[in-house]
Amino acid sequence: MIVREGKGEKNIMKETTMKPAHEANMQDYRIEHEPFYLPIQDEVELFQIAYENKLPLMLKGPTGCGKTRFLSYMAYKTGLPLITIACHEDLTASDLVGRYLLDGSTTRWQDGPLSLAVRHGGICYLDEVVEARKDTTVVIHPLTDDRRVLPLEKRGQILEASDTFMLAISYNPGYQTVLKDLKQSTKQRFITLDFDYPSASLEEEIVVHESGVDRKTAADLRKIAEKIRGLKDRGLDEGVSTRLLIYAGVLIKQGVAPRRACEVALIKPITDDVEIQKTLQEIVSAVH
Ligand code: ADP
Repeated sequence: MIVREGKGEKNIMKETTMKPAHEANMQDYRIEHEPFYLPIQDEVELFQIAYENKLPLMLKGPTGCGKTRFLSYMAYKTGLPLITIACHEDLTASDLVGRYLLDGSTTRWQDGPLSLAVRHGGICYLDEVVEARKDTTVVIHPLTDDRRVLPLEKRGQILEASDTFMLAISYNPGYQTVLKDLKQSTKQRFITLDFDYPSASLEEEIVVHESGVDRKTAADLRKIAEKIRGLKDRGLDEGVSTRLLIYAGVLIKQGVAPRRACEVALIKPITDDVEIQKTLQEIVSAVH
């Protein structure tokens, strides 16, 4: 028998007394302090509209360009809890939805992170969703259309999403192969915001803020990044991220010589190819 469980339903199978403390307390997932975030385009407004109209959101773009920070910022702005799940190849639908756990001689149900957000409201962010096992996609589909439900198969229940539930996923097209890609049937369920490296002046401002270096140092790092990014698909799978520019800035701020900082933060992480490393070192030498 399928039991619908959710807002407005009577006979809800409540188990509050059996819930572990973290499950009952969504406060743990609230962002208390405003994260520093510089909007790149109209993503703040679009997020707000998507949330108000219960539309799921896909953030698309390379790693380290602000997707996670953006969601933290929006969670703070909207006052919603944010539950982030870093997807990996062993992540199953049960990991998201929940499972029965042994509790002495009996069993008790424990909501997974997705069920928690669906039940109590909040943003559930599936980071790099394509990495997760295929059965996870099946589970999120009914949450992405006007049904807004999550089947809890093991319990024979269907959980209706709270009005304040929002699903967000991230996706990096650069990593995908024919064998591992999101299906159109999944992609076409999400409003999609493209994220890319910020413009020069914004990225400099971010590096200054996050690492504490001066504007000139940040501008030099950005110049190097721009040249390295130009080598994408010409030996490099992906350009250098804003995150790595911040790391380089932090090292420089701590007194590491700029060339060495760039070597360990901008070059070594992105390629193992010795020849390409040499090319990147030349790029760094031209600036530092
Ligand atoms: P990802 O796209 O992989 O989720 P993050 O959101 O973790 O990347 O971004 C990496 C870091 O870059 C952040 O921790 C933050 O310091 C910085 N960053 C990137 N974009 C912005 C932005 N628009 N405003 C403020 N900080 C940013």
